[in-house]
Amino acid sequence: AAKEAGKGQYASYEPELDERANYDAQLGAELRLAMDRGDFRLLFQPVVRLPDGAPVGAEALIRWHHPQRGVIPPDEFIPAAERTGLIVPLGAWVLNEACRTAAGWLNDDHATNPWTVSVNISARQLREAGFSRRVSAALSAAGLPAERLMIEVTETAVFDSHAAANALREISALGVAIALDDFGTGHSSLGLLRKIPVNVLKVDKSFIDNITGSTAEATIATAMVSLANGLDLGVVAEGVESAAQARQLHLIGYRLSQGFHFARPLPAEEVRDLLVAETKRAPLAV
Ligand code: C2E
Ligand code: MG
Ligand code: MG
Ligand code: MG
Repeated sequence: AAKEAGKGQYASYEPELDERANYDAQLGAELRLAMDRGDFRLLFQPVVRLPDGAPVGAEALIRWHHPQRGVIPPDEFIPAAERTGLIVPLGAWVLNEACRTAAGWLNDDHATNPWTVSVNISARQLREAGFSRRVSAALSAAGLPAERLMIEVTETAVFDSHAAANALREISALGVAIALDDFGTGHSSLGLLRKIPVNVLKVDKSFIDNITGSTAEATIATAMVSLANGLDLGVVAEGVESAAQARQLHLIGYRLSQGFHFARPLPAEEVRDLLVAETKRAPLAV
């Protein structure tokens, strides 16, 4: 009976695996072509200060401009790029392009405000030998100071991987900041915060959605800001969509946020204009 049950399970599982392999092979081939054609673009979503919304940085978010299917969001191709390994060359492109773009902004706003550009890094990239060298090469090729770059990794990408932890130590030693993305949704072992260098917690949108009620999420989001303050980390609320959420976040101690309420992901030139305007409004003494 056990054998039969096993057989039954396998039979129903096989087509799924098969489909995924097919899907990955096809999408992988398309991604390769798209890389050769240069069909990827970066948008940048501002990270802002609460309560006034002044920009303090921007996160690079990839888009695939498909000649037939139009603009494809990352959730539809990053997972396959990770499974096929194509995330390594694609992620290297993102890193270089983001550094190059940010170096241009720096040039235009005369570098007086301490904004940073953030780049999402997949587990696969982080665990690849020599990743920190890729990062320093991207910085020097672009002429971007390390202090201007932040990389975003998920708890899951780092969890249980010595290679990932070592890469983060090397990157941190370069002067690049490290953010834990989607914080609270992965392997939230708080012990992780002692094992790897972390500068910023990005509290996942799922905790922010219900922030205005007396909900479990509101309690957790409040605990996270206190955790960040106690450990001397920055903390960003992700996915802020309303003024009411922004007010509540500020009330419970959040000083940084990101979300459609303040700005959607924007073309690089629009972010540059925001940063330049902020520098003119509030020039830093240098
Ligand atoms: P993420 O790093 O957590 O990025 C934030 C996502 O939330 C972005 O989606 C952003 O557009 C969206 N978002 C921001 N504010 C709001 C809001 O107020 N409401 C709602 N509903 N959504 C908001 P996007 O650009 O579709 O990216 C999705 C995910 O794809 C990213 O999540 C990240 O994990 C991944 N990704 C994007 N670009 C890259 C990349 O260059 N490399 C890698 N490895 N992953 C990337
Ligand atoms: Mg991110
Ligand atoms: Mg996130
Ligand atoms: Mg996310």
